[in-house]
Amino acid sequence: MPNPSTTNLLLNLEFEPALEALGEGFYDPVVAAEFPHHVLRFRNDDVLGQMGLDAQQVSDIDFIEAYGQFQSREPLLALCYHGYQFGDYNPRLGDGRGFLYGQVRGTDGELYDLGTKGSGTTPYSRGADGRLTLKGGVREVLAAEALHHLGVRTSRCLSLIETGESLWRGDEPSPTRSSVMVRFSRSHIRFGTFERLLALQRPDLIQRLLDHVIEYYYPHLWQQPGAYARFYEELVQRTAELVAQWMSVGFCHAVLNTDNMSITGESFDYGPYAFIQTFDPNFTAAYFDHFRRYSYGNQPTLCHWNLEMLQRPLVSVIPQADLDAGLEQFKLHYYSAYRQRMLRKLGFEPTDTAEAEDLLVQTLDFLQRSQVGYHEFFTELRLQFQDTWRVDPGHIFSESALLNPPQWQAQLEQWRQLYQRLLQQYPETEMAAIGQRLQQHNPLTVITRPQIEAIWEPIVAEDDWHPFYDLLQELRQP
Ligand code: AMP
Ligand code: MG
Repeated sequence: MPNPSTTNLLLNLEFEPALEALGEGFYDPVVAAEFPHHVLRFRNDDVLGQMGLDAQQVSDIDFIEAYGQFQSREPLLALCYHGYQFGDYNPRLGDGRGFLYGQVRGTDGELYDLGTKGSGTTPYSRGADGRLTLKGGVREVLAAEALHHLGVRTSRCLSLIETGESLWRGDEPSPTRSSVMVRFSRSHIRFGTFERLLALQRPDLIQRLLDHVIEYYYPHLWQQPGAYARFYEELVQRTAELVAQWMSVGFCHAVLNTDNMSITGESFDYGPYAFIQTFDPNFTAAYFDHFRRYSYGNQPTLCHWNLEMLQRPLVSVIPQADLDAGLEQFKLHYYSAYRQRMLRKLGFEPTDTAEAEDLLVQTLDFLQRSQVGYHEFFTELRLQFQDTWRVDPGHIFSESALLNPPQWQAQLEQWRQLYQRLLQQYPETEMAAIGQRLQQHNPLTVITRPQIEAIWEPIVAEDDWHPFYDLLQELRQP
C-alpha cells in the first residue's frame, strides 16, 4: 500500500469506529478493487465543508487517492443485511458492491458515514461484478443533489470517479463505462440490518443494535423512560415525513425494499428512480417492477408496510402494543407533512381551513385529469403570479399557453375561483410573500428523465461534461 500523503487532508480525517465497535457479527472486512484508471468527475465541496474541510485545500488528486485508490484506510467493512425485496424476504443480501469506508463527525456534531458504491466485489456480490456504471453514478449524484436542494432529507454524493473499465448491463447500451462513488449519509444501517438479526435468531444483537442506533442517531431519547418505543415512534414520523417530501416534489424512488430504508429516516440509494412528469399515481420507475409495487402513488403505503415488517425484529425488545401505537401515527404525520408542503407550493402558509383542503384536492384532481406537466404547472404558477390575481380571478393563468387546452377550461375556471378565494383570505400586503413562497418551493429545473438523457448524450458522444456541471449548478439555485 502506498504511503499516506501527509498533505492529503482526506487521508488524515479523524475516523470514529462506531459501527466497527458493534463487533464482528455486523460486517466483513474487504479490500477495494484496483482500477486501471481514475478521472474525477464530481466532487462535492459543499459536503467537504460539512466535514470541516476547506475545499481550497483539497485537490482532485487528493480525492483520487482517497476515494478511487482507497489509500491507507482500513478496515473497509462490507455491511451485513437482509431485506424484503418486492415483498419477498431475501437473506442473500449485504453490501455487494460497496463498503463502509469510515465514519466522521460533521461540523454539526452528527456522525456521518462515508460509504462506497462500485468499489469491487465482496462476500455478498452473488456472482455480480461489484461495479457501478458511470451513468448509474451520474444519476445518483443528480438525484441526491436535486433532492437535497428541494428540501428532502437525503444522503449526498461526496465524489464520483470514473474508473476506466468496461461493464456489461442489460439496461444500458453495453459495454458501458464504470465508476466508483462515495456517499455521505447519516447511516447505512437499514431496516434490513435488523431483519437479518431476527433471521439469525439473535435478540441479543437486536438489542445491541438498537442501543447503538439510539445512542448515535436518536441521542435525545437516550436514557429517557420508554426510549425504545419512542425511537420507533420517531422513526415512523421521520419516514412519513420523508415520503411526504418525495411525493410533493414528484419523486418516485422505485426500489423501496427494506434494505433501501435507512434507520435514520433518510433517503438514499438512487437506482432506477424518476421524477414524475405528470401527476399519475400509477407511474412506476423501475422497468422490472411488474406489479407496480413501488409506483409513485404507492410510496406511502409501501413505506408503512416496511415499518410494519420492521416490527418483527423489534418486538423482541419493544412491546407490540407500543409498536402498534407508533405505527398508527404514520398517516397523520404523512398527511400533515404532505399538506404543508403542497400548500407552500401553491404559495400559502399551512392552514387548516376547509378551503385550503379543497384547493389541494382540486389541484391534484386537475393535474391528474388534465395530465398537464406536474412541474410545469407549479413553475407556471411561480412565473405568472401577480398581485392582481387577488382582485380578479380572470387574471389567473390568463397568459398561460400551458393551461389553454379548451377541454380543461371548466375545471380550471373552478380552480381559479377557489385560488382567488384563498388569496382573499390574506391582506394585499401579503401578496409579495406569496410570490416569494412560490419561488422558494417551485424549482425552475427538475431532473426528469429527458433532462438526464440530455446531459448523458454529450458525455457518451464527445465526453462533454459541461451540460452535467451546468445542470448541477441550476439545481443549486435557491
Ligand atoms: P440495490 O438494488 O442497488 O439496492 O442492490 C440490491 C443488492 O444487490 C445489494 O445487496 C447490492 O449490494 C447488490 N448489488 C447490486 N448490484 C450489484 C453488482 N453490480 N455487483 C454486486 N452486487 C450488487
Ligand atoms: Mg441498495
